[in-house]
Amino acid sequence: MSEKKYVYFFGNGDAEGNGTMKELLGGKGAGLAEMTRAKMPVPAGFTITTEVCQLYYDNKKVYPESLKKSVEENLKRLEEVTGKKLGDPDDPLLVSVRSGAAVSMPGMMETILNLGLTDKSVEGLARKTSNRRFALDAYRRFIMMYGSTAMDIDRSKFDDAFDQIKEKMTRSRLGVADGSKVGDTDVNEEELEVVIAKQKELYKKEIKEDFPQDPIEQLWGAISAVFNSWMSAKAVTYRKVENLVGISGTAVNVMQMVFGNKGNTSGTGVCFTRDPNSGENAFYGDYLFNAQGEDVVAGIRTPMKLDEFAKEDPNAYKQLCEVRALLEKHYKDMQDMEFTVEEGTLYMLQCRTGKRLPAAAFRMAVDMVDEGLITKEEAVMRIKASDIEGIFYPAIDYKQDNLKEAFLINGIDAVPGAAAGKICFSAAKAEELAAKKEKAILVRKETSPEDVGGMHAAQGILTATGGKTSHAAVVARGWGKCCIVGCEKLVIDYEKGECSYNGITLKEGDYITLDGTRGDVYVGELRLMEAKQPEAYKRLMQWVDEIRTIQVRTNADRPEDAKIAIDHGAEGIGLCRTEHMFFNDEKRILAIREMIIADTVEGRKKALAKLLPIQTKDFEGIFKVMDGKGVTIRLIDPPLHEFVPHDKEGQQKLAESLNIGFSSVKERVEQLHEANPMLGHRGCRLAITYPEILEMQVTAIITAACNMQGKGVTVLPEIMIPLTIDHKEFTVLEKKVRAVANAVIEKAGVSLNYLVGTMIETPRAALLADKIAEHAEFFSFGTNDLTQMTLGVSRDDASKFLPDYVDEQKAGVFTADPFQSLDQEGVGLLVKSGIEKGRSSRANLKVGICGEHGGDLESVKFFCRAGMTYVSASPYRVPIARLAAAQAEIMKK
Ligand code: PEP
Ligand code: MG
Repeated sequence: MSEKKYVYFFGNGDAEGNGTMKELLGGKGAGLAEMTRAKMPVPAGFTITTEVCQLYYDNKKVYPESLKKSVEENLKRLEEVTGKKLGDPDDPLLVSVRSGAAVSMPGMMETILNLGLTDKSVEGLARKTSNRRFALDAYRRFIMMYGSTAMDIDRSKFDDAFDQIKEKMTRSRLGVADGSKVGDTDVNEEELEVVIAKQKELYKKEIKEDFPQDPIEQLWGAISAVFNSWMSAKAVTYRKVENLVGISGTAVNVMQMVFGNKGNTSGTGVCFTRDPNSGENAFYGDYLFNAQGEDVVAGIRTPMKLDEFAKEDPNAYKQLCEVRALLEKHYKDMQDMEFTVEEGTLYMLQCRTGKRLPAAAFRMAVDMVDEGLITKEEAVMRIKASDIEGIFYPAIDYKQDNLKEAFLINGIDAVPGAAAGKICFSAAKAEELAAKKEKAILVRKETSPEDVGGMHAAQGILTATGGKTSHAAVVARGWGKCCIVGCEKLVIDYEKGECSYNGITLKEGDYITLDGTRGDVYVGELRLMEAKQPEAYKRLMQWVDEIRTIQVRTNADRPEDAKIAIDHGAEGIGLCRTEHMFFNDEKRILAIREMIIADTVEGRKKALAKLLPIQTKDFEGIFKVMDGKGVTIRLIDPPLHEFVPHDKEGQQKLAESLNIGFSSVKERVEQLHEANPMLGHRGCRLAITYPEILEMQVTAIITAACNMQGKGVTVLPEIMIPLTIDHKEFTVLEKKVRAVANAVIEKAGVSLNYLVGTMIETPRAALLADKIAEHAEFFSFGTNDLTQMTLGVSRDDASKFLPDYVDEQKAGVFTADPFQSLDQEGVGLLVKSGIEKGRSSRANLKVGICGEHGGDLESVKFFCRAGMTYVSASPYRVPIARLAAAQAEIMKK
């Protein structure tokens, strides 16, 4: 049996790996192999695969048996190619040991440079380069990097040792005045010798052993340091924040060192083949003469721009431009490259697809199609959901200085964007501030339908409880309003009018800033950056619409929102939550409350009669905006207790308004209490108990449709029953809907087509979908409730524990929050079989999805594969859904 290959060599114009092997070799390893094959100037080396990283962790940090032999063989090959030997006291080979996962995680993992230097070999390097200062400087850097990354010694201790010598010896030798800076390059040979001695002393004190003088020991220490850094707290957090899932681990690249710090014909730089900020086709980057790579990254000295580099060293710049052209032609995308110039010769140390700002992503993709570099399909595949979010939502300016100090707490990133304003603990207060043109941030333990006025008035919303499909998140998403939920540790005291965390207390009226993109809350008013859509966005989205085959609708309850959604490309309404309309003003709230408090059918009908003209008007507004587009209107869904006041004051006020006793109100509210309201008296169960509500709503929908049709509007109403559990329940209600609708149509003396369908949001409905589809004309999967009920996880309480289920270091059960990105394996199974079963009895059944997953890129791709007719997303996420639909289509082909 042939042995598994764990190490891939590159050098001398050839490589065992190539650019397609990112999963196995990491982005850096694959890039180095590919550049070597393309005959670009790359120092030789080898890559230890990401598979080894995974085995290392699976096997309690023990390497696979054959690894040692493979590394030794590859090291030998490297020595042959370079003509140098590791640890050679006369002419030592020095190597860098660097991380590199399949997806770039800048600065999150470790790098060790100048490995192979020992007390003996440093002198060999000094003689060989005729530059002892250079050799000593390389050695002190190596001791510091090795000590801190491989052996976990606090890096600042090494920095202190260096600073002390600079301050004590260099400053007085050079006579530098106090207050002026002594630079790293001012430290001379003798002083560097002292620094090295001090650092070695520090190493011995901390580790209880001498600094290793065996380069092989150094090499294994460095390899382990890189693998260990894969699971460092910062790397784990980065993967979580960036939602990087399914990456097996990091690779380790061992590569011959080249030196940018050999004087003024040497240097090091980082550049991008195009401007990553604007997307313009202009060479962009930084260069530092006489420096090593870490100096650029660490920002120790201020680098020069490339045009200055071009003037200072035209020969090296020319070599760089040649590589730039080769790279873009080869990779057909903007590349981010690290390079070193050693005594006039250019070496490429890394190249990868460069990160870019959202607007730049659109510009580059469109430009590259125009330049004939890529196809439209390739351009569409390059855009990420975060690129779309980035051009629609304002963002925190991450460049401001006080960010770290201002940080308060982190919650769940429910709706992206950023907002700053004064804390308001009640919806009324937020409305009051907004009326005075002041900026408000609504801070609540949770929100309820009663708060919608204040939520709308506020710039942003912060809640202590709830997950990504909680009331606050769903409503805020509909408006594209920045929202953070599940900030469990924030203690909110409404009575005192304050909230606190970690010893910091904020009062109502104090400024805070929310970063909904990351879920971070800051104290004070931070600087924000406005969002703008670049020209290229429009062109790219045209291609998206040409490519996609499924429809994209929107979840909208008001004509204004529906209009925004149409502007963003929506082709219909997939979900109009009628209950949201009950809260638009006092009159409506009172009427719905009167209906709920009433204890007789007559009493309810009286109250409903007040709501009828209001709802009719609302629906007319929506039909008008959606002229010619399908409009799915869902009958009332939430449990009734959500509509009534729970505090004494509110109940008293309601009793007065309705002219009834306080105790009647109180008793009715108590009656409505349920232990599990989300599994209680809600959805179509309300219409089974109170058919008069259904009658009023259907009358309003069909009357509005007839009226608007009479005015020349093309209306396509689709009445949707929520929370259905089977065909028996559905047919009871469907018959009622049709009876009411037909009566209205007959009375109006018109002809009007309408559909009656159902949400599929209980597992039972999904399992019995074939029977339901015999009667239902369409399905819309409510994946919020379907997720809640399939997992048995409350969508409102999940924030208390669900993050642990996503956290790789804790449970790692899910790769993403299942309320945000569909649990394709579990809930997805019900969706797929629900569609199949439904279509088995009604072949042309129209199927859509209107849960929050309709605006999530990966989930939408799944829905496309599952054969849905449309997806429905909140207005600001419609472009993401369009993009996902196009990407799914391209992937299918
Ligand atoms: C759902 O459950 O997915 C849905 C769309 O309904 P709601 O979020 O209103 O419960
Ligand atoms: Mg639902």
